[in-house]
Amino acid sequence: MLEAVDLTKKYDEVQALAGFSLTVAAGEICGLVGHNGAGKTTFVDMVSGLLRPDTGTVLVDGVPPHETRGAIGISPQHIALYRPLTVREHLELYGRLSGLRRKALKSEIEELATAMQLTGFLERRAGLLSGGQQRRTQAATALIHRPKLLLMDEPTAGADPETRQALLDVVKQRAGEGAAVVYTTHYLTELADLKASIAVASHGKVIARGSSAELLDGLPGEVRVRTTD
Ligand code: ATP
Repeated sequence: MLEAVDLTKKYDEVQALAGFSLTVAAGEICGLVGHNGAGKTTFVDMVSGLLRPDTGTVLVDGVPPHETRGAIGISPQHIALYRPLTVREHLELYGRLSGLRRKALKSEIEELATAMQLTGFLERRAGLLSGGQQRRTQAATALIHRPKLLLMDEPTAGADPETRQALLDVVKQRAGEGAAVVYTTHYLTELADLKASIAVASHGKVIARGSSAELLDGLPGEVRVRTTD
C-alpha cells in the first residue's frame, strides 16, 4: 500500500532525510520510532503529499501522494483544528472533502463518535475542547473516510490512558479491515498493544525493521526509545 524508496530532503544545512525507505502492506501497522529529529515527521509529511522529496519516490496504492483522492488519512503531530468549528462540523468537513455522501457520512460520524468517545462533544467547538478531546477529534478526522493508508504522527502525545486506549482500539480495528498504518510514537508499549512491526529511524533513514522483540535486543543506545509511558 505504501512504498517509499530512497527519499532525501535537505533543509538548508540539515539533511532531514538521507535515503529513507519504507514499505507497508495493507493490513499492516508499522510503528515508526527513533530519536527526536530522526526524520519521522518529515517522512510522514512527504507521504501525505505535504512535502516533496529532493530525490526518491513515494507511491500510495500505486500512485504519488498528490494524485490519491481520499486514500490517505492523516493525524498530524501538532493538533490542527479549526477553533470555531464543532467536532461534528470537523467530521463533516473532512468527510465531504474525501467524497463521502450525506448518508454514509452520518453513519460514519455516529460510529466514530462512539468508538472515540466523542458522542457527548459533537456539538462543542474545537476551541473549547480539552487537550485529550482535541486529540480524539484530530484522530477522528483522519479516520472518517476509511482511508487505505493511515498516517498517525504521535497521535497519543499528551493523551490520557482512556483516550490512548480508544485510539489504539480504533487503529487495530481499521488495520483488521485492511488499512495500512504508519504510527509514530516514543512509546513501545503502544506498539506491542498494536502488534505492530517496527521501523527504527535514525539520522534520516530506516536503520532496522522487525518485531518489537527482535529490535529491542542489540540496538545501539542512541536509537533506543523510551519503553514506558
Ligand atoms: P520528533 O521525534 O522530535 O518529532 P522527527 O523524527 O519527527 O522528530 P523531523 O521533525 O522530521 O524529526 O526533523 C528531522 C530534521 O529536520 C531535524 O533535524 C529538524 O530540525 C529538521 N527540520 C524539520 N523541519 C524543518 C524545517 N521546516 N526547516 C528546517 N529544518 C527542519
